[in-house]
Amino acid sequence: MGRREADGLVDLHVHTTYSDGLMAPGEVVVTARSLGLRAVAITDHDSVSGIDEAMERGKALGVEVVPGVEMSTGVSGEDVHILGYLLDWRAEEVQQRFHDLRRKRDERAQRMVEKLAELDVSVTIERVRELAGDGAVGRPHLAQAMLEAGAVRSINEAFDRYIGYDKPAYVPKSKLSPLEAVEFIHAQHGVAVIAHPATYGNDSVVYAAIAAGVDGIEVWHSDHDKRAVAHYQEVAQKNGLIATGGSDCHGGRKNNMVYLGQVEVPYQCLEELRRVQRKYLK
Ligand code: AMP
Ligand code: FE
Ligand code: FE
Ligand code: ZN
Repeated sequence: MGRREADGLVDLHVHTTYSDGLMAPGEVVVTARSLGLRAVAITDHDSVSGIDEAMERGKALGVEVVPGVEMSTGVSGEDVHILGYLLDWRAEEVQQRFHDLRRKRDERAQRMVEKLAELDVSVTIERVRELAGDGAVGRPHLAQAMLEAGAVRSINEAFDRYIGYDKPAYVPKSKLSPLEAVEFIHAQHGVAVIAHPATYGNDSVVYAAIAAGVDGIEVWHSDHDKRAVAHYQEVAQKNGLIATGGSDCHGGRKNNMVYLGQVEVPYQCLEELRRVQRKYLK
């Protein structure tokens, strides 16, 4: 697909404070506006709670806000992210699903707090929840609480010694399969896209997502070099999938963080998403 910039640029992958992003949804839209972006998609991890706030601000500022979500799925132990765009985020079923996922995350955090206690690391679930705020509670919040409690000297140490994969206080998340995520997104009139395919180490995961029925591949992403972009453009083309892209911004410009609009994505990608969505509206 050609990169047509004349129609404007979009960022189709952005996190807010409703998951692990640093900016509130409104701030994301204000920043998008100041960067001259035509559209921005809100894609929090397993949450659609930031969309309404972003939409409201988008209407006021003339920035198109695309409703989205980034769902965590598992393929043989590996975490695979599936983006869902344009889904009916206000639908009861959607609200319920993500509410359940957050509850499961909270239960998992409680179990990790218990395991930490057995290892003489004392953090409270209340503090962990407070750190998560509006967002889904996860290991970064546990690590922060451990740091505050003086149990570790750095976030890294918390992961290395206690809560990293296979470490003594680690508890796995229960995960959907890519097929379950894709079917859910389609049933809610959304379009499914495999996120940052170059980050999984090998393409078997990508082909598993394609087999599960994703409609698109995130070709442009902050973690994709030129080679990855060319490769996934080809994979998209060969499999009749749309090519999308986004920054995966979790914050601002500080601390070398990925920032909004960092990856140039043409407006045409959003039009393609809308075109494919028609298949699922019937
Ligand atoms: P969770 O979804 O609760 O399993 O937490 C996963 C998040 O933890 C990832 O998105 C990262 O932001 C963070 N994370 C994972 N491993 C590390 C690590 N070794 N050091 C710092 N943060 C990490
Ligand atoms: Fe994240
Ligand atoms: Fe992701
Ligand atoms: Zn993301």
